[in-house]
Amino acid sequence: MTKSLPFEVRSSSLAGKGAFAIRPIRKGERIIEYVGERIPHPLADERYDDDAMEEHHTFLFTVSSRTVIDATHGGNESRYINHSCEPNCETEIDRGRVFIFALRDIAVGEELAYDYGYERSGDETEQEERKYRCLCGTRSCRGSIMEPKSEFEKRQRAAARKKAKARREREQTKEHYRSGRSSATKGRKTKAKSAR
Ligand SMILES: [Zn+2]
Repeated sequence: MTKSLPFEVRSSSLAGKGAFAIRPIRKGERIIEYVGERIPHPLADERYDDDAMEEHHTFLFTVSSRTVIDATHGGNESRYINHSCEPNCETEIDRGRVFIFALRDIAVGEELAYDYGYERSGDETEQEERKYRCLCGTRSCRGSIMEPKSEFEKRQRAAARKKAKARREREQTKEHYRSGRSSATKGRKTKAKSAR
């Protein structure tokens, strides 16, 4: 499988090592699967203490709210694909498996990259912002390999809407119970009457 890879790993100006096309890659082509040990988030946090590390750990890929792929263990060349804010690749999760596709035609020698877009929690410290800073140098560089702040805010707004809706529904249920109780009382009265 390694033989048929359309890229090779060598040192990159973006970060450490990178993946470079060794043959033209067509738009939409599936390049490689991101593999490694599948672990739960708490274990990933345990393994990689973010605060103690100078650099972010780039060998983790969040598959879902439950699972992270740790490519330090059992990973392949995919883990060397760097981040870019103007990427030529994208990832797709298909039934829990992660694949990297070409977003456009890629020429020989071009470095492959996808947008890491790490989810923000909203309370990133200066230190974390520095750790996750992006130096991709593209025109649309947002300065961070974390998701754009606007994405985070969008998620926040969606969550707030969901919460408000749940609250409204709870209120309605309460209202329903209140009116339900009174009609139940009425019902009992009626029943009692008709029983007589
Ligand atoms: Zn960038």
